[in-house]
Amino acid sequence: MPKYKAPVDDVMFLLNDVFHVERYSNLPGFSDASPDTVEAVLGEAAKLSEDVLTPLNRVGDVEGCTRNPDGSVTTPKGFKDAYRQIIDGGWIGISTPAEFGGQGLPMFMTQQVNEFLSSGNLAFAMYPGLTQGAIAAILVHGTPEQKAAYLPKMVAGTWTGTMNLTEPHCGTDLGMIRTKAAKQGDGSYKITGTKIFISAGEHDLSENIVHLVLARIEGAPEGTRGISLFIVPKFFPKADGSAGARNAVACGSLEEKMGIHGNATCVMNYDGATGWLIAEENRGLHAMFTMMNEARLAVGLQGLAISEVAYQNAVAYAQERLQGRSISGVKFKDKPADPIIVHPDVRRTLMTIKSFNEAARALVVWTALASDLHHRSPDEKTRQTAEDHMGLLTPVIKGVLTDVGFANTVMAQQMFGGHGYIAENGMEQFVRDARITMMYEGANGIQALDLVGRKLPKDGGRALQAFFAEVQGFIKDHGVTDAMKTFVEPLGKSLGHLQQATMWFMQNALAKPDNAGAGSTDYMHLFGLVALGYMWGRMAVAAQEKIKDSAVAERMKAKLITGRFFMERMLPETGAHLARIQAGADSMMELAVEAF
Ligand SMILES: Cc1cc2nc3c(=O)[nH]c(=O)nc-3n(C[C@H](O)[C@H](O)[C@H](O)COP(=O)(O)OP(=O)(O)OC[C@H]3O[C@@H](n4cnc5c(N)ncnc54)[C@H](O)[C@@H]3O)c2cc1C
Repeated sequence: MPKYKAPVDDVMFLLNDVFHVERYSNLPGFSDASPDTVEAVLGEAAKLSEDVLTPLNRVGDVEGCTRNPDGSVTTPKGFKDAYRQIIDGGWIGISTPAEFGGQGLPMFMTQQVNEFLSSGNLAFAMYPGLTQGAIAAILVHGTPEQKAAYLPKMVAGTWTGTMNLTEPHCGTDLGMIRTKAAKQGDGSYKITGTKIFISAGEHDLSENIVHLVLARIEGAPEGTRGISLFIVPKFFPKADGSAGARNAVACGSLEEKMGIHGNATCVMNYDGATGWLIAEENRGLHAMFTMMNEARLAVGLQGLAISEVAYQNAVAYAQERLQGRSISGVKFKDKPADPIIVHPDVRRTLMTIKSFNEAARALVVWTALASDLHHRSPDEKTRQTAEDHMGLLTPVIKGVLTDVGFANTVMAQQMFGGHGYIAENGMEQFVRDARITMMYEGANGIQALDLVGRKLPKDGGRALQAFFAEVQGFIKDHGVTDAMKTFVEPLGKSLGHLQQATMWFMQNALAKPDNAGAGSTDYMHLFGLVALGYMWGRMAVAAQEKIKDSAVAERMKAKLITGRFFMERMLPETGAHLARIQAGADSMMELAVEAF
């Protein structure tokens, strides 16, 4: 069975030595997040994931969720007890304001805890994860009464949350939503329609489920400009705060699916269910974006999380599995064969995953810190820069960390040979579970379009220019030292590729938008590689400083070698992405539809 060890040390290195979070101790919540506190909290999350969630991962996969004849849904054995520990540990509200029962700690702590929980059990971690997203939307867009009625329960975890966008005929194109909302005399709305693929739509983990539902108010304009967002609770909140009478919303069926079997994917029927508007009428999509952006970062994190656990198990197997002899001479004479980790091709595979994971984790921490600055800094300019960073990096994190995360699970499975294909070793489950991350929360093709079509031109390219300036500044500051040449030179070259690609879009995509669409996925991955390369640059600076400390010298040496591998073997892919972008759309668009 797969094992998991949460990379607490790696996270502490990022927080303390790479990003120096102590710089932000003036921000609300940061003074409570001393290195010792952070390490203790992460240590507890690690234990929860390693000891409780990891053993349940296969149980959830084999057993799945069951819909009972009365429409209720039973989660796999052990999920309820594990969820009790989520409630008891206050894990949902780590970063939520104290006035709603949260701990007000920085967002980077929530992100790291979520990485650990998702590595242990992706399907399980989605229940609290979706609740965090719904909390974020209510916090920003809810009325004071809505916040008071829902947030304390959701932050505590006794009520969970969902997001209801998708309908049978529309997923990406939400402008076609048909679910209707009819205004009632008392200010509430009757919601009628069918939503599909609703994660955690019904289950037995919490006393109540708070659905955030997109619907069209009768008479509203067509398209995305006529969509509103509603809170539709499964049970109406009573004045004393407890769950009251049942609302007219029910799970019609559960989807049978490729992976994440422990998470209930529901068809939700709204039969004149009572809902209350959040945010203004017809501004629902805008409000839902608060939850979607949160969820996109969370899904990117899922890609990393599953890549990490798959990697750890591939390493353990490669250290034990004896096959063949090293081509450079026998390495383990006392054994009938060498462990496969001696073979360069096995190492290529493992290093590919490792060097991605460590940089991806840095990218997540960097962006989580931007989220904290955006929400907590007293300085307007800092808040704006941080918001720009998040807007730009969100599609990159979602798209790149899940595309590559999935590919990494396949590579990790490959390390097991045929033993990776059978269920017993758990590797095929990682592959199946990881696959959905590329699809939900906006399929990755849509993330790439969001990056190229919306995020690049936004505010005259302000966010992109800031990113370029930051990476260029780093190159300038560190390019002169010999020790950093291995990192800075390839980074400079790849940044050049990204700038050329951006320029090419400016010159070739405005008059011919197909050129942007044709190059968008390559651009997203090109951007991701540069961002990850920049993370390696920053980690290398920190590691070179820290290597002087003998207690961590070996770990820092490994960091620098891993970073060098990334710069030599992965970053050069930016050249291929640039070439594909510059090839334009012609050969892609020429075939007639019926010629495919
Ligand atoms: C297990 C699971 C859990 C889910 N959980 C939730 C949930 O909790 N809440 C919720 O609301 N939804 C949920 N979803 C739905 C999910 O978010 C959608 O499936 C996803 O957004 C894609 O929509 P779609 O399936 O309708 O695909 P489509 O929109 O039909 O897209 C099909 C393909 O066409 C591409 N495409 C579509 N339009 C364009 C375009 N304009 N340009 C280029 N390419 C395009 C897409 O990239 C995609 O590859 C879940 C789905 C699954 C399978």
